[in-house]
Amino acid sequence: MILPESLFLKAVKARKNAYAPYSKFKVGAAILSAKGNVYVGANVENVSYPCGICAETAAIAAMVAGGENLIQEIVIVADSKEIISPCGACLQRISEFSNQKTTIHLADLSGIKKSYTLGQMLPFNFDEESLRQ
Ligand SMILES: [Zn+2]
Repeated sequence: MILPESLFLKAVKARKNAYAPYSKFKVGAAILSAKGNVYVGANVENVSYPCGICAETAAIAAMVAGGENLIQEIVIVADSKEIISPCGACLQRISEFSNQKTTIHLADLSGIKKSYTLGQMLPFNFDEESLRQ
């Protein structure tokens, strides 16, 4: 069993490796999968700005590469006065690999500050039902 606090520490560690030479804004993410494994990600910027990816996206890619597709919890950490939220695109990406119980923890460097379900953060996600005609 992995506690949110230890997931937070893994996100902090991943954040240290973020590649953010342009914004200087480093973000780390750590996913606890439904099977109990941890996958981490950090933001990876690019001189061609739109080519950069968010920490959440990187962590999701690591999870999928590890053969899993369900997020139990995700911690997102940055060093900012106000806690940050996943961007809209990342909320949609998280929703692809989540269920009603999936929890999103928002943290600064001192720890987890707020926790929400995906439904609270993205109540009108685009899902398979949306594709039905
Ligand atoms: Zn994002």
